[in-house]
Amino acid sequence: MDLEAILDGVFGDVSDHIGEGKVADYIPALAKIDPRKFGMAVATVDGGIVTLGDAGEPFSIQSVSKVFTLTLALGRVGEGLWKRVGREPSGTPFNSIVQLEHEHGIPRNPFINAGAIVVADTLLSGHEPRETLGEVLSFMRHIAGDETIVIDREVARSEQQTGFRNAALANYMFAFSNIHNPVEKTLGVYFHQCALSMSCVQLARAGLFLANRGRLASGHSVVSAERARRINALMLTCGHYDASGDFAFRVGLPGKSGVGGGILCIAPGKAAIAVWSPGLNANGNSAAGTRAMESFARRSGWSIFG
Ligand code: GLN
Repeated sequence: MDLEAILDGVFGDVSDHIGEGKVADYIPALAKIDPRKFGMAVATVDGGIVTLGDAGEPFSIQSVSKVFTLTLALGRVGEGLWKRVGREPSGTPFNSIVQLEHEHGIPRNPFINAGAIVVADTLLSGHEPRETLGEVLSFMRHIAGDETIVIDREVARSEQQTGFRNAALANYMFAFSNIHNPVEKTLGVYFHQCALSMSCVQLARAGLFLANRGRLASGHSVVSAERARRINALMLTCGHYDASGDFAFRVGLPGKSGVGGGILCIAPGKAAIAVWSPGLNANGNSAAGTRAMESFARRSGWSIFG
């Protein structure tokens, strides 16, 4: 398959839409990002990489980080994680509070903010935030095969100063004993993991193990094939919050979005695809990025639905 030609075609399809949507200005450090940035990278299971546009420029991966902290948390606590967080789509926005009272402080899934805060809390237990973040960063560098990946402290600080909704979620879950560490520490881990700064190339490489039955392109095992399959299932059903159904309908691949404008998609057995375009649609997912994934899936014919 000529992936270069496919990406050229994708660019033709989306170029009129680049700059569409609204950047995430509720995190002040993200408000100043140029909405016209656009990059895409496809990392294939044979170790190849094909790129388009600003694919080498680091951006704030935000909620795409939740895929990787979930992977680490499952490695740490195993299936016991599911006592503290569910596996169902929420049908509500990423930062919603409304279900938590009905469901006694157990978030619907690990990809809405409340669920990812619980996941961060499991990684923190027994450690200081600095150690947990060191573990997250080493893991990202390892799976991306790139030691230059960093956490953008300015973005983390910016969110820490304005993250009142996340603070409300964490405090509320603490009241149900579903946060075990001091709330400020757990939130510190969460805000810093969201502030991981990665390019489309680094993100596609980091996600490749999910397309490759749990293994890196080198053959090194990260998780079992079964676990990779299950993480993909959660990405498909919950990765785009209340737009997860629409994303499955339009793209047909497991995907995880972030308010930095990034989306990571998994084509099992084939490739991991990352796109970045900072303008967001009403659901907080990259507007042009979603269009680009839709175009890519149509042109490649890659879909988990046949
Ligand atoms: N750090 C962001 C927040 O907690 C992540 C949200 C997102 O990317 N959807 O609000």
